[in-house]
Amino acid sequence: TMAHSKALLVLENFIGGKFVPCSSYIDSYNPSTGDVYCRVPDSGKEEVDLAVEAAKAAFPVWSSKSPLERSQILNKLADLIEHDLEDFAQAESKDQGKTITFARTIDIPRAVYNFRFFASSVLHHTTECSEMTAVGCVHYTLRTPVGVAGLISPWNLPLYLLTWKIAPAIACGNTVVAKPSEMTSVTAWMMCKLLEKAGKGCDDSLPFFPSGVPPGVVNVVFGMGSKAGEALVCHPDVPLISFTGSTLTAQRITEKSAPHCKRLSLELGGKNPAIIFNDADLSQCIPTTLRSSFANQGEICLCTSRIFVQRGIYNEFVKRFVAEVKKWKVGNPSDPTVSVGALISKEHLEKVRNYVKKAQAEGARVLCGEGVDSLVLPADNQNGYFMLPTVIAEVKDESKCMQEEIFGPVTCVVAFDTEDEVIERANRVKYGLAATVWSSNVGCVHRVARRLQSGLVWTNCWLIRDLNLPFGGMKASGIGREGAKDSYEFFTEVKTITIKH
Ligand code: NAD
Repeated sequence: TMAHSKALLVLENFIGGKFVPCSSYIDSYNPSTGDVYCRVPDSGKEEVDLAVEAAKAAFPVWSSKSPLERSQILNKLADLIEHDLEDFAQAESKDQGKTITFARTIDIPRAVYNFRFFASSVLHHTTECSEMTAVGCVHYTLRTPVGVAGLISPWNLPLYLLTWKIAPAIACGNTVVAKPSEMTSVTAWMMCKLLEKAGKGCDDSLPFFPSGVPPGVVNVVFGMGSKAGEALVCHPDVPLISFTGSTLTAQRITEKSAPHCKRLSLELGGKNPAIIFNDADLSQCIPTTLRSSFANQGEICLCTSRIFVQRGIYNEFVKRFVAEVKKWKVGNPSDPTVSVGALISKEHLEKVRNYVKKAQAEGARVLCGEGVDSLVLPADNQNGYFMLPTVIAEVKDESKCMQEEIFGPVTCVVAFDTEDEVIERANRVKYGLAATVWSSNVGCVHRVARRLQSGLVWTNCWLIRDLNLPFGGMKASGIGREGAKDSYEFFTEVKTITIKH
């Protein structure tokens, strides 16, 4: 496959403000064609050590800048990414297989907003103070950056999730070493070019104009999780790891970081229920549940994969839902009329398909999609990793499809009778990330939301986020929360100081 005549895109690590080549590389595929189109550095301990050194060297200056100065630099970076939004969106779509529409309207705008949001948020932090007049003391707290932050991100929302970590980490005065997914490294590399640009050509003589992101504040090391990722997790001078990815990898990271007592934030998988009561407004619920099941090919940790529908509307829901699913077009991600792009890899596509096969073998009924309808693809996409959005009914709660995270365009729909029953069934999985509840009875919504074991509950909507508020999962879906206040707390050390007069 390396004999392709077209020049491959070759990425380089970004260390200490410079692009540095690596001694070996990994092939990266275009999921919509199955072609190798990019080579990603296969970094290991050596590269990670250099990046950590660079981050340590940059820490004293960066951590002592004022929040305002850091804020201005983050805003500048946001402007630079926004200026190149279309290029970033095209690159993200090609690299990940997601539709250009999703990349344009969700991924890249959110990456821009992540920088703007934390640029603003960092200006509003205050710490606590308390007085003890009887003993003549005043106590107060200080928050200081932790040091070099290790940031590890997954392939489903590449730049979106990476910047959700980089922005708060550097806003709080840390320096970082980031390791994006080896399958989706291109937009992180493009961002490094802007970091380099942001560091040049500014007027240093103006007191309030920042000179850009200084070298070493953000370092990006590309490569495999088992090699580059693990070297970062095991590095003694990286006291903090923010990780988004699978529960299995999080267990490994927890073990590997335990000897160093590292601070961990773990954002993991989900098996998210939608609970739809008889009195739900189906005109809102159906299109939203369609999106919550199949947006980004179902490759979002917050995607719905278990739909519980109350008996009274079950048949109507299923009929209308399946009719809508069939309208979603699968195909070339760069076609703006396409709603479902390619899955990330051949292996992942195989894994997702196997879940459907397993369900069928157990006696479940596939209502549409995989194995039932035919998938017609454009000539150029015949070798891409595509599959039709698939709805499975009559699945047992104990079945793998109802228990394990599938992370593809597959959703299960089952009936329920009572509120108590559905809460119990919704909670009977190892995960607890997100849930949606559909009802026009506010009492019901409130009772159910309160009892669900889930870090996020959306009622009568999905994916509407206020970044000020905590994001994260319960149970096997994670440890810790991120958001304005939560990220500030995670990315800083707190100290209590007592002064006696
Ligand atoms: P993954 O765990 O395989 O990989 C995530 C990252 O960890 C990658 O950069 C990978 O290279 C790295 N990694 C792998 N092994 C490592 C190791 N031993 N040490 C250090 N790093 C290692 O996950 P994925 O397949 O890339 O992403 C999909 C998963 O991410 C799904 O489970 C999904 O639910 C989850 N996810 C969660 C959230 C959330 O916010 N809760 C968001 C998006 C995705």
